[in-house]
Amino acid sequence: MPAEPAKIEFPLKKTPKSSIFSRMENAAAEDAAWKKGRTFSLVYYPGEEILQFLKETYTRFFCENGLNISVFPSLRKFETETVAMVGDLLNIPQQGAGSMTAGGTESILMAVFAARERARTHKPEIQKPEIIVPASVHPAFDKAAHYFDLTTHHISLRPDGRVDVALVKQAINSNTILIVGSAPSYPHGLIDPISELGELAVEYDIWLHVDACVGGMMLPFVEKLGYPLPVFDFRVPGVRSMSVDLHKYGYCPKGTSVILYRDKSYRKYQFFAYTEWTGGLYASATITGTRPGGAIASAWALINHLGVEGYLELAKPVMEASLKIQSAVKNIPGLHVLSNPEATVMALASDKFDIYQVADELNLKGWVLDRQQLPPSIHLTLSFGNTPFVEEFLADLTQACQRVQKFSLQKISNRAVVGIAKTLTRLLPQKIVSKLTSFSSNLGGEGMPKRQAAMYGMMGVLPNRGDLHTVVLDMLDKLNTPLTSNPDVNNQEP
Ligand SMILES: *Cc1c(COP(=O)(O)O)cnc(C)c1O
Repeated sequence: MPAEPAKIEFPLKKTPKSSIFSRMENAAAEDAAWKKGRTFSLVYYPGEEILQFLKETYTRFFCENGLNISVFPSLRKFETETVAMVGDLLNIPQQGAGSMTAGGTESILMAVFAARERARTHKPEIQKPEIIVPASVHPAFDKAAHYFDLTTHHISLRPDGRVDVALVKQAINSNTILIVGSAPSYPHGLIDPISELGELAVEYDIWLHVDACVGGMMLPFVEKLGYPLPVFDFRVPGVRSMSVDLHKYGYCPKGTSVILYRDKSYRKYQFFAYTEWTGGLYASATITGTRPGGAIASAWALINHLGVEGYLELAKPVMEASLKIQSAVKNIPGLHVLSNPEATVMALASDKFDIYQVADELNLKGWVLDRQQLPPSIHLTLSFGNTPFVEEFLADLTQACQRVQKFSLQKISNRAVVGIAKTLTRLLPQKIVSKLTSFSSNLGGEGMPKRQAAMYGMMGVLPNRGDLHTVVLDMLDKLNTPLTSNPDVNNQEP
């Protein structure tokens, strides 16, 4: 690996399209095989026919800009109707409102910001606003707190993996502006007790946000299919806002999410206007300025194309795959599903062997699974694109678990690594940190290493998790640096 990152030059000359296409295909050679159902999250593939429809509707509005929807009545129609349709699905009251955003994170940032701004108006005595979130909540809330200067309280989960409402209640104080529940949580696919959180929210007059980024376009259909679910949406009094990603179980193009508010008056707190600009009056509803018209248009198109009928057809096999995997896991010795997920997101863990090694084994067969911590587990978000490959996955999973159990040798050496790391971190924290840093730099250097169990094992024993924070930021820096120079660009004069 070169010590200095390669310098990438701006190309001087034109390059034929065919050459660009082939360079792009080369670049994609080692991308995860999502069409073969190998990814669980990141890609939500609704099948070829729907995908083509999305591309067609997207490209028709490819150039239109959602920055100013008064210039494009088409986009205004698509956005407002999409928000209304998704709101209807989640039982929003008549006076409710919302916006389309670029994704779950932007939807969450908007809700947290609106809650803070409303508190500034209604509870001006609050000097240092605080938010209360489950330990399993998506980090977008920590990001929001980081951006908007809020203090976050992470609340422990009950033994069943859902947030402990009694502890939420204890954490409420005069600075609290927001409490959050997930429907479901991303790591374990468990729905927090939204009704009980709603009671607290009403009792203390505090904003309750339900993060239904992953579940908002799935749970309503799971419910309509007849599976038992707790209420998790605007039917619960006290829920003031919900985030719902369309680019997950809505199967819409990337860059589509909705933020919903129980009352139009709440939405105003997220708006921005600047009236003194030399460029004229500037106003925008969400964080982003320019927005892709294609994403807005094709989300509207797909929801209208599918309707409840079409989404049920997508949801049914996914729910059946989820139940199938959950019952198959019961028959794999040493493996279990964490708690009892309501729908199609779950985590697998083991008390008998190193689950990260199982992930490594599955990686070798092309399966891409998130590795999770506290406790160690691997993550499955099942979507339509996975359903034809469930048998294949279960066979590989069973084999991986068998292999890992037999891995006594590697297990020992892995334990030895962890043991050395433990000793070193006590004696020489700096050294192990720089060692870890160079180890993790492989991630940005030569692609993901196929076996990551040792690294995750080491990270698990770092005594000071602040060191881990530094390691991860360093890794991010590496990932955001070009890998190699672009050798097929010839900027030399002949
Ligand atoms: C995906 C997800 C988010 C963040 O959404 P992005 O679209 O990745 O920004 C937030 N919360 C939950 C529960 C999610 O699953």
